[in-house]
Amino acid sequence: MSTVVTDTLPSAETARTDLEAWLDEHWDPAATLAEWWDRLARSGYAAPTLPTDAWGKGWPRSLAAVVTEVMRERAVVGPPAGLGYLLAAPTVAAHGTDEQKETLLLRILNGQDAWCQLFSEPGAGSDLAGLQCRAERDGDEWVITGQKVWTSTAQLCNLGMLIARTDPDLPKHKGITYFAFRMDQPGVETRPLREMTGRAMFNEVFIDGARVHDRDIIGGRGNGWAVANTTLAAERAGLGSGGSGAAGNAFPGPLAGALDRPVGDFVGQVRTGGAGSAVGGDAAGAYIRLATELGRAADPVVRQGLAQLYTLTRLGRWGAMRAKAGVGRTGGEGNIAKLMMSDILRLQREVGNRIIGPDGMITGADTKSGGMVQELTLFSPGPSIYGGTDQIQKNILGERVLGLPKEPGPPKDTPFRELLKN
Ligand SMILES: Cc1cc2nc3c(=O)[nH]c(=O)nc-3n(C[C@H](O)[C@H](O)[C@H](O)COP(=O)(O)OP(=O)(O)OC[C@H]3O[C@@H](n4cnc5c(N)ncnc54)[C@H](O)[C@@H]3O)c2cc1C
Repeated sequence: MSTVVTDTLPSAETARTDLEAWLDEHWDPAATLAEWWDRLARSGYAAPTLPTDAWGKGWPRSLAAVVTEVMRERAVVGPPAGLGYLLAAPTVAAHGTDEQKETLLLRILNGQDAWCQLFSEPGAGSDLAGLQCRAERDGDEWVITGQKVWTSTAQLCNLGMLIARTDPDLPKHKGITYFAFRMDQPGVETRPLREMTGRAMFNEVFIDGARVHDRDIIGGRGNGWAVANTTLAAERAGLGSGGSGAAGNAFPGPLAGALDRPVGDFVGQVRTGGAGSAVGGDAAGAYIRLATELGRAADPVVRQGLAQLYTLTRLGRWGAMRAKAGVGRTGGEGNIAKLMMSDILRLQREVGNRIIGPDGMITGADTKSGGMVQELTLFSPGPSIYGGTDQIQKNILGERVLGLPKEPGPPKDTPFRELLKN
């Protein structure tokens, strides 16, 4: 499948030279975005950490970082933005059939499809396994009925990672199945939810009698909880690491309207994974410049905040490097990285508003900070909620890493049907 099969790992230097030679031959800003993404996907460079039988190179993150670095230096457009690349790709690579890897996965990596994450429901967020969306069998298809909520970018997506209850007589974690679900079919209605940022990034999705085929189950019937955990682990890892670092990217899929445009148009444009990535790579540096420009750099409280921000972002970066190097792993690295991101973002908000003062109450390009601090302030509650709230990350660390007792609740083998529902 993948054109590159790596038996032994190259050195960082060889990886760099090979990629530079490949880019000399294949990067063409006049090609369409679809053509470029297809070349990138088939070369293994779109997602080098995926296995070689899943369009990757089986490389560790340290070598994948070389790819990102070279692509940034060369001002080349990186792989598709959005949750397909971030979440669905590693999930299909880990649990998909050969056929799903051949088709679904390639179409994620080459940007032909755009995916959203149909996990949360009005009564199932932190308690995700309590989901009530039903999938009922009808021949070799399943009929889906239920409501999903907070579905980022659903309005731009033609596919969804859907988890639904296929067997309510089994305990709640066991009767769940994971589907690749078509959004563009009768019985699927997407309604935008407006945020306080003024945008409507996420949506409610109402599903009434929509259909999905047996062959679109990912990871086997009743195994959806394990498959969803792969998605959630990818989400934590992606969110904690703070963006892809590409020199440009774009939103994939047939609805976003970007595929037929010249790829050169997207150099310098960076879209995030859908839920936004408000934490700048060099948050402290940007704020030190801002405080200096506005004559606030001598204020002792501002200075203290800047020092805290610098310290915390450094600690976060070293933690991420340690996790990548695989040294002394506890298994909680992803959770800690995500908690750290929430802390950094809150601190960024506080320090930023202290620097700009009353201008924090108005927004727009002509305000102090050009609206950067205000935008971040309005978005700041989001990341400590999505991908599992701060409290849930701490519960996971307590139970799975520190081995503390589990939260009290009904016996694990209680059939879902008999549980109290939200
Ligand atoms: C910007 C944004 C984008 C999102 N995008 C998506 C998306 O694309 N797809 C998707 O499926 N979902 C998405 N979500 C939803 C997100 O995953 C949920 O909001 C999140 O899991 C929390 O669920 P909830 O909102 O139902 O809150 P609840 O679970 O009701 O939690 C309410 C409060 O109770 C606390 N709490 C709950 N249970 C416990 C416990 N056991 N111990 C301690 N404290 C607890 C929580 O920490 C929280 O403070 C998004 C959310 C946001 C904010």
